Amino acid sequence: ATPTAVLVATGASAERGILFRGGDVLEGTARLTLAAFDKTGTLTEGKPKIAAIRPLAGSEEDLLNLVARAEGGSNHPLAKCIVAEARRRGLESGDGGGIRTLPGLGVELDLEEGMLRVGSRRFLQQAGIGGMDPFSGEALTEIHAALGDRYLGSILCEDTLRPEAADAVARLRRLGIGTAILTGDTVEAARSIGDRLGIDEVHGALSPGDKAEWVKNAMARGERVLMVGDGINDAPALSEADVGCAMAGGTDIALETSDLVLTRPDLTTLVAGVEVARRTLGIIR
Ligand code: ADP
Ligand code: MG
Repeated sequence: ATPTAVLVATGASAERGILFRGGDVLEGTARLTLAAFDKTGTLTEGKPKIAAIRPLAGSEEDLLNLVARAEGGSNHPLAKCIVAEARRRGLESGDGGGIRTLPGLGVELDLEEGMLRVGSRRFLQQAGIGGMDPFSGEALTEIHAALGDRYLGSILCEDTLRPEAADAVARLRRLGIGTAILTGDTVEAARSIGDRLGIDEVHGALSPGDKAEWVKNAMARGERVLMVGDGINDAPALSEADVGCAMAGGTDIALETSDLVLTRPDLTTLVAGVEVARRTLGIIR
Protein backbone atom coordinates (compact mmCIF):
# COMPACT_ATOMS: atom_id res chain seq x y z
CA ALA A 1 0.00 0.00 0.00
CA THR A 2 1.14 3.55 -0.61
CA PRO A 3 1.87 5.74 2.44
CA THR A 4 -1.14 7.85 1.45
CA ALA A 5 -3.45 4.82 1.44
CA VAL A 6 -2.21 3.86 4.91
CA LEU A 7 -2.81 7.41 6.18
CA VAL A 8 -6.31 7.49 4.75
CA ALA A 9 -7.15 4.08 6.23
CA THR A 10 -5.81 4.88 9.70
CA GLY A 11 -7.53 8.28 9.69
CA ALA A 12 -10.90 6.82 8.69
CA SER A 13 -10.52 4.04 11.28
CA ALA A 14 -9.72 6.52 14.06
CA GLU A 15 -13.05 8.23 13.35
CA ARG A 16 -14.84 4.89 13.68
CA GLY A 17 -13.24 4.19 17.04
CA ILE A 18 -10.09 2.20 16.31
CA LEU A 19 -6.61 3.66 16.64
CA PHE A 20 -3.72 2.07 14.74
CA ARG A 21 -0.55 3.12 16.53
CA GLY A 22 1.96 3.17 13.68
CA GLY A 23 1.77 2.33 9.98
CA ASP A 24 3.15 -1.20 10.37
CA VAL A 25 0.24 -2.07 12.67
CA LEU A 26 -2.11 -1.85 9.70
CA GLU A 27 -0.07 -4.49 7.86
CA GLY A 28 0.08 -6.75 10.95
CA THR A 29 -3.69 -6.43 11.32
CA ALA A 30 -4.29 -7.34 7.68
CA ARG A 31 -2.41 -10.64 8.13
CA LEU A 32 -4.02 -11.89 11.37
CA THR A 33 -5.10 -15.55 11.53
CA LEU A 34 -6.09 -15.95 15.20
CA ALA A 35 -7.82 -13.67 17.71
CA ALA A 36 -7.43 -14.33 21.46
CA PHE A 37 -9.75 -12.53 23.87
CA ASP A 38 -9.56 -11.86 27.56
CA LYS A 39 -12.96 -12.53 29.15
CA THR A 40 -13.70 -10.06 31.96
CA GLY A 41 -14.06 -6.53 30.61
CA THR A 42 -13.32 -7.61 27.04
CA LEU A 43 -16.01 -10.11 25.98
CA THR A 44 -18.11 -9.09 28.99
CA GLU A 45 -19.09 -5.59 30.07
CA GLY A 46 -16.79 -5.82 33.09
CA LYS A 47 -19.60 -4.70 35.39
CA PRO A 48 -20.16 -7.83 37.47
CA LYS A 49 -23.00 -8.17 39.97
CA ILE A 50 -23.03 -10.34 43.07
CA ALA A 51 -25.06 -13.51 42.54
CA ALA A 52 -24.43 -15.20 45.89
CA ILE A 53 -22.50 -14.75 49.13
CA ARG A 54 -21.52 -18.03 50.75
CA PRO A 55 -19.88 -17.77 54.15
CA LEU A 56 -18.59 -21.00 55.65
CA ALA A 57 -19.71 -19.70 59.07
CA GLY A 58 -21.25 -16.44 60.25
CA SER A 59 -23.35 -14.02 58.24
CA GLU A 60 -23.21 -12.89 54.63
CA GLU A 61 -22.51 -9.35 55.82
CA ASP A 62 -19.51 -10.43 57.90
CA LEU A 63 -17.93 -12.07 54.89
CA LEU A 64 -18.79 -9.18 52.56
CA ASN A 65 -17.40 -6.70 55.06
CA LEU A 66 -14.06 -8.48 55.36
CA VAL A 67 -13.72 -8.96 51.62
CA ALA A 68 -14.52 -5.27 51.06
CA ARG A 69 -11.66 -4.32 53.39
CA ALA A 70 -9.26 -6.00 50.98
CA GLU A 71 -10.96 -4.75 47.80
CA GLY A 72 -11.13 -1.05 48.66
CA GLY A 73 -8.77 0.95 46.48
CA SER A 74 -8.43 -1.78 43.82
CA ASN A 75 -9.70 -0.89 40.36
CA HIS A 76 -10.39 -4.48 39.32
CA PRO A 77 -14.02 -4.84 38.12
CA LEU A 78 -14.64 -7.51 40.77
CA ALA A 79 -13.26 -5.23 43.49
CA LYS A 80 -15.52 -2.38 42.37
CA CYS A 81 -18.58 -4.63 42.50
CA ILE A 82 -17.74 -5.85 46.02
CA VAL A 83 -17.17 -2.31 47.29
CA ALA A 84 -20.41 -1.07 45.70
CA GLU A 85 -22.42 -3.86 47.33
CA ALA A 86 -20.79 -3.23 50.72
CA ARG A 87 -21.67 0.45 50.44
CA ARG A 88 -25.25 -0.39 49.45
CA ARG A 89 -25.57 -2.40 52.65
CA GLY A 90 -24.06 0.37 54.75
CA LEU A 91 -20.80 -1.51 55.37
CA GLU A 92 -17.36 0.03 55.31
CA SER A 93 -14.65 -0.91 52.86
CA GLY A 94 -10.90 -0.45 52.85
CA ASP A 95 -9.14 2.65 51.54
CA GLY A 96 -6.48 0.72 49.66
CA GLY A 97 -3.82 1.20 52.35
CA GLY A 98 -1.53 -1.81 52.83
CA ILE A 99 -3.14 -3.78 50.04
CA ARG A 100 -1.07 -5.88 47.67
CA THR A 101 -2.47 -6.71 44.25
CA LEU A 102 -1.49 -9.95 42.53
CA PRO A 103 -2.62 -9.58 38.90
CA GLY A 104 -4.79 -12.47 37.75
CA LEU A 105 -5.00 -13.87 41.28
CA GLY A 106 -6.44 -11.40 43.77
CA VAL A 107 -5.51 -9.08 46.61
CA GLU A 108 -4.05 -9.50 50.07
CA LEU A 109 -3.97 -7.38 53.21
CA ASP A 110 -1.94 -7.98 56.36
CA LEU A 111 -4.28 -7.85 59.37
CA GLU A 112 -3.54 -8.46 63.05
CA GLU A 113 -5.51 -11.72 62.85
CA GLY A 114 -3.43 -12.92 59.91
CA MET A 115 -3.12 -12.45 56.16
CA LEU A 116 -6.46 -11.70 54.49
CA ARG A 117 -6.46 -13.22 51.00
CA VAL A 118 -9.23 -12.54 48.48
CA GLY A 119 -9.13 -13.95 44.97
CA SER A 120 -9.28 -17.00 42.78
CA ARG A 121 -9.37 -20.62 43.90
CA ARG A 122 -5.88 -20.96 42.47
CA PHE A 123 -4.65 -18.00 44.56
CA LEU A 124 -5.79 -19.63 47.81
CA GLN A 125 -4.47 -23.03 46.74
CA GLN A 126 -1.06 -21.48 46.07
CA ALA A 127 -1.10 -20.11 49.63
CA GLY A 128 -1.76 -23.64 50.90
CA ILE A 129 -5.38 -22.99 51.85
CA GLY A 130 -7.96 -25.75 51.47
CA GLY A 131 -11.62 -26.21 52.29
CA MET A 132 -13.14 -24.73 49.16
CA ASP A 133 -16.17 -26.54 47.78
CA PRO A 134 -15.45 -28.48 44.60
CA PHE A 135 -16.36 -26.56 41.44
CA SER A 136 -20.03 -25.67 41.54
CA GLY A 137 -20.25 -26.17 37.81
CA GLU A 138 -21.98 -22.79 37.72
CA ALA A 139 -20.70 -20.40 35.11
CA LEU A 140 -20.07 -17.75 37.73
CA THR A 141 -16.90 -15.94 38.67
CA GLU A 142 -15.68 -17.10 42.08
CA ILE A 143 -14.03 -14.92 44.69
CA HIS A 144 -12.69 -16.89 47.64
CA ALA A 145 -11.55 -15.47 50.96
CA ALA A 146 -9.27 -16.71 53.72
CA LEU A 147 -7.85 -15.22 56.90
CA GLY A 148 -4.51 -16.75 57.80
CA ASP A 149 -4.95 -20.43 56.93
CA ARG A 150 -8.69 -20.37 57.66
CA TYR A 151 -11.02 -20.53 54.67
CA LEU A 152 -13.95 -18.07 55.08
CA GLY A 153 -16.18 -18.69 52.08
CA SER A 154 -16.88 -17.34 48.63
CA ILE A 155 -18.70 -14.64 46.74
CA LEU A 156 -20.05 -15.49 43.29
CA CYS A 157 -20.39 -12.82 40.62
CA GLU A 158 -22.12 -12.63 37.29
CA ASP A 159 -21.18 -10.41 34.36
CA THR A 160 -23.08 -9.62 31.15
CA LEU A 161 -21.80 -10.38 27.69
CA ARG A 162 -21.19 -7.38 25.46
CA PRO A 163 -24.21 -7.23 23.16
CA GLU A 164 -22.09 -7.17 19.99
CA ALA A 165 -19.63 -9.91 21.02
CA ALA A 166 -21.36 -12.78 19.19
CA ASP A 167 -21.61 -10.75 15.99
CA ALA A 168 -17.92 -9.81 16.19
CA VAL A 169 -16.87 -13.45 16.65
CA ALA A 170 -19.07 -14.61 13.74
CA ARG A 171 -17.60 -11.93 11.47
CA LEU A 172 -14.04 -12.89 12.42
CA ARG A 173 -14.86 -16.47 11.47
CA ARG A 174 -16.08 -15.31 8.04
CA LEU A 175 -12.74 -13.55 7.64
CA GLY A 176 -11.02 -16.88 8.32
CA ILE A 177 -9.75 -15.80 11.74
CA GLY A 178 -9.90 -18.38 14.55
CA THR A 179 -10.92 -17.37 18.08
CA ALA A 180 -9.87 -18.20 21.64
CA ILE A 181 -10.65 -17.08 25.20
CA LEU A 182 -7.73 -16.63 27.60
CA THR A 183 -8.91 -15.89 31.13
CA GLY A 184 -7.79 -15.96 34.72
CA ASP A 185 -11.32 -16.97 35.64
CA THR A 186 -12.38 -20.62 35.98
CA VAL A 187 -12.52 -22.97 33.01
CA GLU A 188 -16.29 -23.38 33.66
CA ALA A 189 -16.97 -19.65 33.47
CA ALA A 190 -14.85 -19.40 30.34
CA ARG A 191 -16.60 -22.35 28.68
CA SER A 192 -20.06 -20.93 29.28
CA ILE A 193 -19.09 -17.69 27.51
CA GLY A 194 -17.22 -19.59 24.81
CA ASP A 195 -20.24 -21.79 24.04
CA ARG A 196 -22.59 -18.84 23.82
CA LEU A 197 -20.27 -16.98 21.44
CA GLY A 198 -19.14 -19.93 19.35
CA ILE A 199 -15.48 -19.43 20.23
CA ASP A 200 -13.12 -22.15 18.97
CA GLU A 201 -10.82 -22.57 21.98
CA VAL A 202 -11.32 -21.85 25.67
CA HIS A 203 -8.60 -21.63 28.34
CA GLY A 204 -9.22 -20.75 31.99
CA ALA A 205 -7.30 -20.39 35.26
CA LEU A 206 -4.45 -18.67 33.40
CA SER A 207 -1.94 -16.35 35.06
CA PRO A 208 -0.81 -13.24 33.14
CA GLY A 209 2.36 -15.19 32.25
CA ASP A 210 0.30 -18.18 31.02
CA LYS A 211 -1.64 -15.89 28.68
CA ALA A 212 1.61 -14.58 27.18
CA GLU A 213 3.00 -18.12 26.91
CA TRP A 214 -0.11 -19.29 25.04
CA VAL A 215 0.24 -16.40 22.56
CA LYS A 216 3.93 -17.18 22.08
CA ASN A 217 3.21 -20.87 21.38
CA ALA A 218 0.48 -20.01 18.87
CA MET A 219 2.92 -17.70 17.06
CA ALA A 220 5.54 -20.48 17.03
CA ARG A 221 2.96 -22.65 15.21
CA GLY A 222 2.82 -19.97 12.54
CA GLU A 223 -0.34 -18.17 13.62
CA ARG A 224 -0.49 -14.38 13.35
CA VAL A 225 -2.01 -13.54 16.69
CA LEU A 226 -4.25 -10.72 17.84
CA MET A 227 -4.66 -10.38 21.62
CA VAL A 228 -7.55 -8.27 22.91
CA GLY A 229 -7.61 -7.28 26.58
CA ASP A 230 -8.25 -4.57 29.12
CA GLY A 231 -6.35 -5.38 32.27
CA ILE A 232 -2.91 -5.34 33.87
CA ASN A 233 -3.22 -9.15 33.73
CA ASP A 234 -3.34 -8.95 29.91
CA ALA A 235 -0.29 -6.70 29.48
CA PRO A 236 2.32 -9.47 28.94
CA ALA A 237 0.11 -11.18 26.31
CA LEU A 238 -0.69 -7.85 24.62
CA SER A 239 3.00 -7.07 24.16
CA GLU A 240 3.83 -10.64 23.08
CA ALA A 241 1.15 -10.80 20.34
CA ASP A 242 1.70 -9.73 16.72
CA VAL A 243 -1.02 -7.19 17.37
CA GLY A 244 -2.15 -6.21 20.87
CA CYS A 245 -5.51 -4.47 21.17
CA ALA A 246 -6.67 -2.67 24.31
CA MET A 247 -10.24 -1.78 25.20
CA ALA A 248 -11.20 1.82 25.91
CA GLY A 249 -11.34 2.39 29.64
CA GLY A 250 -8.87 -0.41 30.26
CA THR A 251 -5.92 -0.23 32.61
CA ASP A 252 -3.14 2.22 31.64
CA ILE A 253 -0.57 -0.53 31.24
CA ALA A 254 -2.85 -2.40 28.81
CA LEU A 255 -3.21 0.78 26.76
CA GLU A 256 0.55 1.43 26.81
CA THR A 257 1.53 -2.06 25.66
CA SER A 258 -0.95 -2.24 22.78
CA ASP A 259 -0.71 -1.55 19.05
CA LEU A 260 -4.43 -0.94 18.60
CA VAL A 261 -6.88 0.84 20.84
CA LEU A 262 -10.66 0.59 20.65
CA THR A 263 -11.70 4.08 21.69
CA ARG A 264 -15.32 2.96 21.91
CA PRO A 265 -15.99 -0.32 23.68
CA ASP A 266 -17.40 -2.01 20.59
CA LEU A 267 -15.84 -5.26 19.36
CA THR A 268 -17.35 -4.91 15.88
CA THR A 269 -15.17 -1.83 15.23
CA LEU A 270 -12.23 -4.20 15.69
CA VAL A 271 -13.59 -6.41 12.91
CA ALA A 272 -14.10 -3.34 10.75
CA GLY A 273 -10.45 -2.48 11.43
CA VAL A 274 -9.33 -5.87 10.11
CA GLU A 275 -11.47 -5.41 6.98
CA VAL A 276 -10.06 -1.93 6.32
CA ALA A 277 -6.50 -3.18 6.87
CA ARG A 278 -6.96 -6.05 4.39
CA ARG A 279 -8.54 -3.80 1.78
CA THR A 280 -5.76 -1.24 2.15
CA LEU A 281 -3.03 -3.86 1.85
CA GLY A 282 -4.87 -5.58 -0.98
CA ILE A 283 -5.11 -8.84 0.93
CA ILE A 284 -8.13 -10.93 0.03
CA ARG A 285 -8.64 -14.35 1.55
P1 ADP B 1 -9.72 -12.12 33.40
O1 ADP B 1 -8.57 -12.86 32.82
O2 ADP B 1 -11.03 -12.80 33.05
O3 ADP B 1 -9.75 -10.67 33.04
P2 ADP B 1 -8.39 -11.78 35.99
O4 ADP B 1 -7.12 -12.41 35.51
O5 ADP B 1 -8.38 -10.33 36.25
O6 ADP B 1 -9.62 -12.21 35.02
O7 ADP B 1 -8.83 -12.52 37.32
C1 ADP B 1 -8.84 -13.92 37.38
C2 ADP B 1 -9.50 -14.38 38.65
O8 ADP B 1 -8.70 -13.97 39.77
C3 ADP B 1 -10.87 -13.81 38.91
O9 ADP B 1 -11.89 -14.58 38.33
C4 ADP B 1 -10.95 -13.80 40.42
O10 ADP B 1 -11.30 -15.08 40.91
C5 ADP B 1 -9.50 -13.53 40.83
N1 ADP B 1 -9.24 -12.09 41.05
C6 ADP B 1 -8.39 -11.28 40.37
N2 ADP B 1 -8.37 -10.04 40.87
C7 ADP B 1 -9.26 -10.04 41.91
C8 ADP B 1 -9.71 -9.07 42.85
N3 ADP B 1 -9.29 -7.81 42.87
N4 ADP B 1 -10.63 -9.49 43.76
C9 ADP B 1 -11.09 -10.75 43.78
N5 ADP B 1 -10.70 -11.70 42.93
C10 ADP B 1 -9.79 -11.37 42.02
MG1 MG C 1 -9.99 -8.40 31.84
